[in-house]
Amino acid sequence: MSINRKGNLILFTGSSGVGKGTIIKELLDRDKNIRLSVSNTTREPREGEIDGVHYNFLTREQFNDVLKKDGYLEHAEFCGNLYGTPKKQVEDMLNQGYDVLLEIEVKGGLQILDKYPDILSIFILPPSMESLERRLRRRGTEDEETIRKRLAQAAEEISYKDRYKYNVVNGDLETAINEVLDILHKEDENLIK
Ligand code: 5GP
Repeated sequence: MSINRKGNLILFTGSSGVGKGTIIKELLDRDKNIRLSVSNTTREPREGEIDGVHYNFLTREQFNDVLKKDGYLEHAEFCGNLYGTPKKQVEDMLNQGYDVLLEIEVKGGLQILDKYPDILSIFILPPSMESLERRLRRRGTEDEETIRKRLAQAAEEISYKDRYKYNVVNGDLETAINEVLDILHKEDENLIK
């Protein structure tokens, strides 16, 4: 499958709680040509999450309807919930000339890399598993069982980090953001303008 594009796909992966969202928010503020893809999920909304903004919140049936119509660029099950990147939304933004950032978990990311091996891909790592656990707890959005599942998942996910072109450790947020900005700058000549 190929994708029509005037813009670039940028893949952002890393364990749940590693701070991907915070880094991405900065990138979106600083580079107005980057758009974030809004995923579909069957997960329950967290407090403050808005349908259509943070995710499109779907039932399993609705999610599977999109899947049957080949409507996902990639999809994966993560800790009991389904997540998928709507194909048309991404294609439309790329065709409008935007760079599209995918913030997804590792298995979905690997599906994207199989299809588009040349895209810019960044894996965000925690400084340690202990710090990841602290962050997940501090966030306070998950119950104990979910935190356990997400930590176990994180350990598995990290084993795929070398499939990604760049690994960035998010110990200090500002340092991590600057490192990601440097990568984007360095890759600039490979990106479609
Ligand atoms: P959360 O439930 O914390 O919002 O997300 C759980 C994990 O699913 C995170 O690692 C997040 O990046 C990932 N995720 C979000 N959207 C998608 C998607 O469309 N596809 C895949 N494969 N993962 C996603």
